[in-house]
Amino acid sequence: MITIIGGGIGGLTTALAFEKHGIDYHIFEKAPSLKTAGAGIWLAPNALQVLDWLGILDKIAEKGNTIDRISVTNQDLSPLSDTHQGFVVDTFGFSTIAIHRAELQEILLNSIPKHKITLGKAFHKFEKATPQKIKVIFEDNSSTVTDTLIGADGIHSKIRKQLFPKSKIRYSGQTCWRGVADIKIDSGFEHRGIEMWGNQIRFGISRISDQKVYWFAVVTSKPNQKDNTTHLKNKLLEIFSKFHPIVHQLISNTMNDKIIRGDINDITPLQQWHTDTICLIGDACHSATPDMGQGGAQAIEDAYYLSHFINNEENTEIAFSKFQKKRYSKVNTIVKLSRRTEKIAHWKYGQSFRNFILKSTPNKILEKKMIKMYQIEKMN
Ligand SMILES: Cc1cc2nc3c(=O)[nH]c(=O)nc-3n(C[C@H](O)[C@H](O)[C@H](O)COP(=O)(O)OP(=O)(O)OC[C@H]3O[C@@H](n4cnc5c(N)ncnc54)[C@H](O)[C@@H]3O)c2cc1C
Repeated sequence: MITIIGGGIGGLTTALAFEKHGIDYHIFEKAPSLKTAGAGIWLAPNALQVLDWLGILDKIAEKGNTIDRISVTNQDLSPLSDTHQGFVVDTFGFSTIAIHRAELQEILLNSIPKHKITLGKAFHKFEKATPQKIKVIFEDNSSTVTDTLIGADGIHSKIRKQLFPKSKIRYSGQTCWRGVADIKIDSGFEHRGIEMWGNQIRFGISRISDQKVYWFAVVTSKPNQKDNTTHLKNKLLEIFSKFHPIVHQLISNTMNDKIIRGDINDITPLQQWHTDTICLIGDACHSATPDMGQGGAQAIEDAYYLSHFINNEENTEIAFSKFQKKRYSKVNTIVKLSRRTEKIAHWKYGQSFRNFILKSTPNKILEKKMIKMYQIEKMN
């Protein structure tokens, strides 16, 4: 029996992948319900290939919106880099899908048998029960005994803290508001993913369904700042007052309670992701800043590879070693590139030089990088 802690994107996808292989598991999630999670998310083609393999791509495509053009622009929407995603469709059969996180969670959750997930159960710590078994203790003092433990409990993972107490969360120096506007966006924006860069501030948009548009607003900030909700929209309108009018339209059409703030963090890359029969996946072991839109996709890739290695290997420790070996270089590259992109996007000096480089980078180079990032190895 494998116990998964955390019913986020990584935990639920892993459960579904185990389901597909016929691997015995149970998943524990601390939240009592997964219905109202977050704002929007982009699912890149690497994630979509795994979701296709899991048989839920049609549902995702039905609830989300295809992005066929990805642009980084100036604050007035004039392009800095602009890639039409036809080359991605030609290579993988589909391009990125933007979807509400709650829709994604619901599709994943509904694909797992109800008796295999316990909600409202928070992991507290683990102990050795016998040389072969692990005792998992929950915050309500109940416990379960398991052969294998998977930590899919996100960036603040308690399992990681117990396994690797020296692991460190790094604040990026940037904070982010995310919102979902109830609006039918102009047809020219319907299938675009856009990030507008201003002076150390950024605003991103993508339609996630007919009447809903996901946006994010990033600024340089001290950590742990609080908002006065009554004045929040006015504050954002003021910060982004020099941006294209669509930004004003989106903020104005978002309900106050649909705006979420979160500081942007990642974790210092770990040397080791597992010990004996305990392994970390997703943000718990390789959280990245969101600048490449790949954190969730990497958690989904983890589910794919880990489930195959566990299925093909009798010895769990060897399966975990193979998993880390397979994934380590790709995720660490993404962590590094995400961090670098985030810094460059908020450069105080050299913005004209940065923009010149972005504008003059041939699309062929960007396309080659994207294809490499989206590649998934076929496994039996
Ligand atoms: C602003 C922003 C935008 C992003 N945009 C994108 C994007 O467009 N595309 C993309 O691919 N990625 C994106 N990401 C990254 C993505 O959200 C994460 O990488 C992804 O959610 C990681 O999934 P996870 O399952 O590892 O962790 P999480 O999604 O954090 O899930 C962890 C789960 O574990 C549960 N949990 C925590 N502690 C316990 C406990 N003690 N006991 C039981 N359960 C517990 C939590 O409640 C949660 O449900 C973005 C991130 C941010 C911050």
